[in-house]
Amino acid sequence: MKLLENKVALITGGSRGIGKGIVEVFAAQGAHVAFTYNSSAEAANAMAEELSQNGVKVKAYQSDAAQFDQAESLVAQVLADFGSVDILINNAGITKDNLLMRISEEDFDRVIEVNLKSVFNMTKAVQRTMLKQRHGSIINMSSIVGVQGNAGQTNYAASKAGIIGFSKSVALELGSRNIRCNVIAPGFIETEMTQKLDEATVQTWRDGIPLKRGGTPQDIANTCLYLASDLSSYVTGQVIHVDGGMYT
Ligand code: NAP
Repeated sequence: MKLLENKVALITGGSRGIGKGIVEVFAAQGAHVAFTYNSSAEAANAMAEELSQNGVKVKAYQSDAAQFDQAESLVAQVLADFGSVDILINNAGITKDNLLMRISEEDFDRVIEVNLKSVFNMTKAVQRTMLKQRHGSIINMSSIVGVQGNAGQTNYAASKAGIIGFSKSVALELGSRNIRCNVIAPGFIETEMTQKLDEATVQTWRDGIPLKRGGTPQDIANTCLYLASDLSSYVTGQVIHVDGGMYT
């Protein structure tokens, strides 16, 4: 049996990296998937076409998650196309790393808007639908950096820590309506982006991880699968660390 048969999932930032892995795993598990991208139109549409097989519908939408109005109109369009939203995954995120001494106000604000305000925008936009249907699973992508902090990432760490406080509050506010809200805190996940880095540097990172490897998008997607499905029906307000043991 497929774990997400006939569920509708809305996933932000599904065109590459971790988000792409989630879209693939969810479609394979029977979910109909609406996913967003910011600029990778060609890749996103090709992916949607390829995955729209075996009875599932997969569709890509250009939408800047940082913009409140765009989140509202995206959800209205997804509801028109898919009929409901059972699962929301706020995965879209960016980095603009710099030491506090050098970071600009603009780079601080943009990271907060794309990583944190987007979670507010999207959660607000799906809330009415989930309340009406009296079920929903919301999964927000934080980071080990949001828990531990990281030099050179004050903006990113603040956005990812903010996601945790927001999610725990949503879990308390909406639990009585059977809407669950959980957080995933990935460690070092190897994506197309890390393939471009110097192999020796990446190997040093791997060596420092208890499980001695970087994570894969599938490692994160499988945790999303658990949190999205009825396997986790009594789990809410939690932060699940998926990091090979980096955070203990
Ligand atoms: P990635 O490869 O850079 O992909 C980011 C995705 O977000 C892309 O689909 C991108 O779309 C989309 N996106 C960016 N800005 C957006 C916006 N304003 N509105 C809508 N979509 C937007 O990132 P990743 O490494 O897979 O990371 C995914 C999430 O996991 C992020 O929240 C990140 O902070 C978190 N995370 C990652 C790691 C890691 O090691 N990779 C570790 C901890 C946490 P386009 O393709 O159109 O640009």
